[in-house]
Amino acid sequence: MRNWLGRLASLLIAGLCCAQTTGPAEDAGVAVYVGKEMVKGYRPTPALVRKETPVVMPKFPVVDIHCHWSIYQDPVELIKAMDALGMSKAVDLSGGYGDYLDRMIEKFHMPYPDRVFVLCNIDWKKIDDPTFGQDVTAYLKSAKGKGASGLKIFKDLGLNVKDKTRKIVSIDDPRLEPVWKTCGELKMPILMHSGDPVAFFQPVDEHNERWMQLKRHPDWTFYGPQFPTWEQVLQQHVSVIQKHPGTVFISAHLANCGEDLQRLASIMDRCPNMYADISGRVAEIGRQPYSARKFLIKYQDRILFGTDRYPGRTDQERNSVYYRFLETDDEYFDYYNHPFPPEGEWKIYGVFLPDEVLKKIYHENADRALAGEMPLH
Ligand SMILES: [Zn+2]
Repeated sequence: MRNWLGRLASLLIAGLCCAQTTGPAEDAGVAVYVGKEMVKGYRPTPALVRKETPVVMPKFPVVDIHCHWSIYQDPVELIKAMDALGMSKAVDLSGGYGDYLDRMIEKFHMPYPDRVFVLCNIDWKKIDDPTFGQDVTAYLKSAKGKGASGLKIFKDLGLNVKDKTRKIVSIDDPRLEPVWKTCGELKMPILMHSGDPVAFFQPVDEHNERWMQLKRHPDWTFYGPQFPTWEQVLQQHVSVIQKHPGTVFISAHLANCGEDLQRLASIMDRCPNMYADISGRVAEIGRQPYSARKFLIKYQDRILFGTDRYPGRTDQERNSVYYRFLETDDEYFDYYNHPFPPEGEWKIYGVFLPDEVLKKIYHENADRALAGEMPLH
């Protein structure tokens, strides 16, 4: 049995992002029918004899561009954990706004200005204000002045944020133009998470490859007439990036296109101002190692390392899995540190990237993005 208190605390402060998973290990396993008998907890151990290469420390220093932590985190512990993970820099995307943002910057960025970075967020409740455009412009300038290293847009934009007409505000809503424009002028990178895995937009049934996950988290589905489609969200996301070629964007979670790398490649070709982070998507790219390796090598100047965790989070720790995926040619291994597959029912394969590509994905690209520099091509 795991340390439940620790796990609960971690979940509470993990931010509102993505695939966190709860649920007792006892519930693990798939139920299958054999004739008329239902077999519960089926979790076969592969007979395949495989090479196992644990990678505790990465080959080169890493920048985790996609972290979430809260004001309750201890900055000294954070730094200790970063050192233990071979992490030179960590970027918190949950900086908030107002007083909270000030406190976050003061507590984490100020003592470690070269290692710990905080991105600010936007208060969408003000979207209906007639002065929203000028207010948000002033806010971004002041946030940058105080030390915010960029702007994070959460997935609620395009899926949940509504204005006074009770309609969902689309990502490419004209009222948001000042946001994209100002960040470009200020050289503030925008890390934008739009949409979610395509399965979250599909019917929640036995054909859904994340059925188990959606059963565990019924509130994660975006299937239904009350939501835009996966396709619409992606198109809005891409149209904003294309319309603002002078602004640096980092598409979170491979723009939620990890299941279709050809599609993602065509988007990246159309958007030279776009980086993409791999956080939370090792399961997607790790199950297609041939395509993933080619893709990561082709777009080596534009892919950023990220975990969607915080350094030192001990439940569902991801770094070692990511390092193993990127560095080794290990085959058919778990994409998780967890009692059961938290996402889909599959395993992954390493892509053994060359050193010069690893260095770029681990830290060189992130350093450029954090400095507000366009990707190299
Ligand atoms: Zn996230």
